[in-house]
Amino acid sequence: MIIFSDVTKMFKGRIALQNVNFAINPGEFVCVTGPSGAGKSTIVHLLICAEVPTKGIIEVDGQNLAKIPHAVLQLYRRRTGVVFQDYKLLSDRTVYDNIAFAMEVSGDPTSIIQPRVMELLAKVGLNGREKAYPSQLSGGERARAAIARALVHKPMIVIADEPTGNIDPVQSLEILKLLQDVNREGVTVLLATHDDEIVDKLQTRVLRLENGALVRDSIGGYNSGVPTQPILEKKSHKVFDKEEQEVVAQETKSAPKEEVPQTGGRKIKPIAI
Ligand code: ADP
Repeated sequence: MIIFSDVTKMFKGRIALQNVNFAINPGEFVCVTGPSGAGKSTIVHLLICAEVPTKGIIEVDGQNLAKIPHAVLQLYRRRTGVVFQDYKLLSDRTVYDNIAFAMEVSGDPTSIIQPRVMELLAKVGLNGREKAYPSQLSGGERARAAIARALVHKPMIVIADEPTGNIDPVQSLEILKLLQDVNREGVTVLLATHDDEIVDKLQTRVLRLENGALVRDSIGGYNSGVPTQPILEKKSHKVFDKEEQEVVAQETKSAPKEEVPQTGGRKIKPIAI
């Protein structure tokens, strides 16, 4: 499970998150909501190890993310699919190549990459669009391509940071359905959104942040919710399998260097998506 224990994050003396506590079980769909500047993206960046907490501990399946060994970090990043706010598709590559690239980085052969990419394109409804470049896609199609890329390594956790921020309501609904489908297959989904309508539509567990503090943890729509029951039994997301850690360590020795995604103007470390 994912556990935030008393997590505080400061940026140059300013508080982005303050003593945040929550636990998420495998298979949950959780909306992280709150107004702009509340700390939603900070939660995402901490979870993908692009930032470390100033105070407190973040654990995934018992592994403290601040102390994660390199090979395990590579595995964790594979098992954690991320859909960034601006999607971070590579503009000089086709949809196919954007998705395939994430597998090439891991050293997968074409015989595995090709069917996997086509399977993912079908899954997200982008059949026939594989040769298009990101600039030729609608906002919704870009979001779909980013979701396909996030799913490439069959993640246990998908983290989507405002994936519907720049698209119209009809397409937004389609993207939400897609994330719900992913969740139905057993993947834990964390959706950061400032959009109250989305929270109302989904009626899932809601973690609401205000000024960096967690002010709500309950299940339901925007205005009301049933308090989340305390989690009594610790369940695993199965992201840290020992054998796989060794395989990843071997692969990463020979893998090509990946381009550095940006988060809102801030540089973060490379992510083997
Ligand atoms: P949200 O995603 O809810 O809009 P953020 O997590 O992006 O909020 O930001 C929370 C607060 O932390 C804001 O005041 C923001 O300006 C600040 N912040 C976030 N990241 C950085 C950073 N890298 N450097 C300085 N301030 C930051």
